[in-house]
Parts: sequence; structure tokens; C-alpha cells
Amino acid sequence: TDLFQSPDYFQIDDLLSEEHKWIRESVRQWVKKAVSPIIEDCCQRAVFHKEWFPQMGELGCLGPTIPQEYGGSGLDEIAYGLMMQELERGDSAVRSAASVQGSLVMFPIFTYGSEAQKRKYLPALAKGEIIGCFGLTEPDHGSNPAGMTTRLTDQGDYFILNGSKMWISNAPVADIAIVWAKDEQDQIRGVIVERGMEGFSTPETKGKWSLRASATGELVFDQVKIPKENLLPEARGLKAPLSCLSSARYGIAWGAVGAAMDCYDTALRYAKERKQFGKPIAGFQLIQKKLAEMITEITKAQLLNWRLGTLKNAHKATPAQISMAKRNACEIAARIARDARQILGAMGITGEYPVMRHLMNLESVITYEGTHEIHLLITGEDITGINAFV
Ligand code: FAD
Repeated sequence: TDLFQSPDYFQIDDLLSEEHKWIRESVRQWVKKAVSPIIEDCCQRAVFHKEWFPQMGELGCLGPTIPQEYGGSGLDEIAYGLMMQELERGDSAVRSAASVQGSLVMFPIFTYGSEAQKRKYLPALAKGEIIGCFGLTEPDHGSNPAGMTTRLTDQGDYFILNGSKMWISNAPVADIAIVWAKDEQDQIRGVIVERGMEGFSTPETKGKWSLRASATGELVFDQVKIPKENLLPEARGLKAPLSCLSSARYGIAWGAVGAAMDCYDTALRYAKERKQFGKPIAGFQLIQKKLAEMITEITKAQLLNWRLGTLKNAHKATPAQISMAKRNACEIAARIARDARQILGAMGITGEYPVMRHLMNLESVITYEGTHEIHLLITGEDITGINAFV
């Protein structure tokens, strides 16, 4: 109980069901037991701990909103959000792994896949027996995925896939990849690429200072023969991958708040114990300003996320609302991590405390799934009706 106190300044727990609280507690306990003791070592050595996958599967964190019929947990959006919050209190890499598997791999198969694809992949993905990744970003097309050049050509009995994807989470450990490519009519389609297909490789991206416990890599396709049954039949156009991102971004909004909570908890406890000039540093106004602003921002972000979750449950959340919540959570989390780092003084730069690790991780979280700038421009377009980013 000394770890992970949940800041709840506005009695937001009253808005949660008993089931929500129970789910949050079970994920929190798992993070304490399975993630916290080894995460620092995983980050220092830059290794992804694959064993987390089946354990997250058992907890129901992989595809929480996918119906039970397909191996998912059949839970609501608030439960999904709380799971992501608790995972990211542990580390953004753990939450990223679950986000990719649930929102970027299971969601498109569930939403755009054939019945046979759903039966074949979803239960194994939900259990964490197989790992998936999502290939949208290319070396020359990040914020502008519509410009992608990865190509899918129809050869009659099969397709041929050529091109490459970059910055792909889980790629080096993935058994399958959901890959977005243009067909001969320049329409974006999605295919399921399996490890072992000839001409398909996943070189690892090394030397990251952020998300070090997450495996990131490229997806390279050199004349890869894709069976026709691996095409996602219902996915056409950029709106298909964007709908997956909407689901993942929603989880990120909750997750980043989890990282912020861990930084706040750490800074508050440290400030009350650390004495300088004869008293705890928590007694100085400048430290209190930082702590008070942290809890204020965490509280606002919690309420925004909760409201977004209820809108999502009612199928009323818009992509622009999700952009705002994702951006806000990243903004406040990064600021809180930085302030927490300063409150800890020199100790703040060490791996004794989780703060510097969160701070570095959040640099990726701010950039992936739509950058901070792009999400701001999405809000701008939504309120003015004028697109400023093309
Ligand atoms: P760019 O698009 O080149 O942007 C560079 C800068 O220019 C940014 O600040 C951006 O905001 C700004 N900019 C661009 N266009 C505009 C504009 N119109 N107006 C104002 N500013 C603009 N992708 C996947 O497909 N799958 C994954 O699993 C995945 N995992 C990732 C994991 C990590 C650790 C990281 C770092 C990235 C991952 N990504 C993944 C890629 C990520 O989604 C992209 O990095 C992101 O979309 C931005 O693209 P980019 O890096 O090419 O930046």
C-alpha cells in the first residue's frame, strides 16, 4: 500500500461501479507484483519482457471491450480506461503493448475482419498466446499516413506486398502484423501479415532513450505473398486505420494520467520526507505550488477521461474529443513528470525512482498516435471548420 495511492481529490471513485474498482485493483496488484520489481532493469537493459503478454491476457487487459465470444473481456470503456491507467503507472511500455494488441490488432480484426479471421486470431490474441503489431507509419510518412507508398497488388490467387513501415511497437516480437497498404486503385486496405511469410522481416530499432522496455522495429516487405483470405474485407480507406487509432488514443488518455499519478505520488511522498533548511521540502511554497498544480491537473484529466468514457459507452464520442483528451493527458503528464523530477532533486535523475523513466517514456507518448501538434490542429479544425494541417 505504500506504492500506488490513487489520487482521488474529487471523489471520482463514486462514479465507478464496484466492478470497475475491482478491475482497477486487480490490474494494480499485478503491476505491483509483475512489473514494478523488474521494470527498471528491463529499461536499463532495453529488453521487452514477453512473459507479460499471457499474464495481461489472463487479467483481461488484451482487448477488454471485445466480446467474450471472441475471447475478449466484454467490458465497457471505463473498465478499459482504468486498465490502461494502471498499466501505465507501471510503465508506458506495458500499456503500449496492451494498447497495440487490443486497439490496433484485435479491434481491426473484430471490426473489419471476416468471421474466419475473427475465429482464427482473436482468442489467441486475447490470451496473449500470439502477439500482434500495427503498421501504419512509414519512413517518409508519419503525420501524413495518406501519403503511404506500401503497395498491395492483386495477382489473382494472392496479393503481393512491397514497402516498409517504421517505428512499429511490438514489431520485433510480433507473430502477426496488421499492415495498411494501397491497392492498384490507390485505396488503403488492411492485410494480416504473418511471421514466417517469405520476404517479411522485422529489424529492431535500437538506441531509444524512451519506451526502452518496449520492442520497436521496422516491418519490411519484399515481394511478400499474401493469401487472399488475409485481406481485412471490410476495411477501405484511411478511416479504417484512423478508427483503430481512435480506440488506442482513448486508452492513452487514461494511461498518461496513470504515469502522471505515479509521478505525483512519488513527488508528494519524497517532499514530505526530504528535509532541507531544517524542515520537509513539502513545507516550502514553491514545492507546494508544483504539488498543488499536479493534483489539480490530474483531477481535471480524470474527469475529462471519465466523461469521454461515458460518451464512448454511448457511442457518442467524436474523434476530435478523443484527440483533445489524448493531447491534454500527454501535456499534463509530461509537465507533472518534469516537475516531479525537479522536486526529487538529484535523486530524480536516478532509477531509484520511476520519475525520469516516465518523463522519457512520455516523449514517445506525446509523439505517437498523432503528435501533440496534429491533435491541436484537429481541435482547431473541429471548432473553425478550417483544416490547417494540409
Ligand atoms: P513527422 O510527421 O515527420 O512530424 C515531425 C514534426 O512535425 C512533429 O512535431 C509534427 O507534429 C510536426 N508536423 C507534421 N506535420 C505538421 C503540420 N501539418 N502542422 C504542424 N506540425 C506538423 N506508428 C505505427 O504505425 N505503429 C506503431 O506501433 C507505432 N509505434 C511507435 C512507437 C514509438 C516509440 C514511436 C516514437 C513512434 C511510433 N509510431 C508508430 C509512429 C508514430 O505514430 C509517428 O512517429 C507519428 O505519427 C509522427 O510521425 P513522424 O515521427 O514521422 O513525425
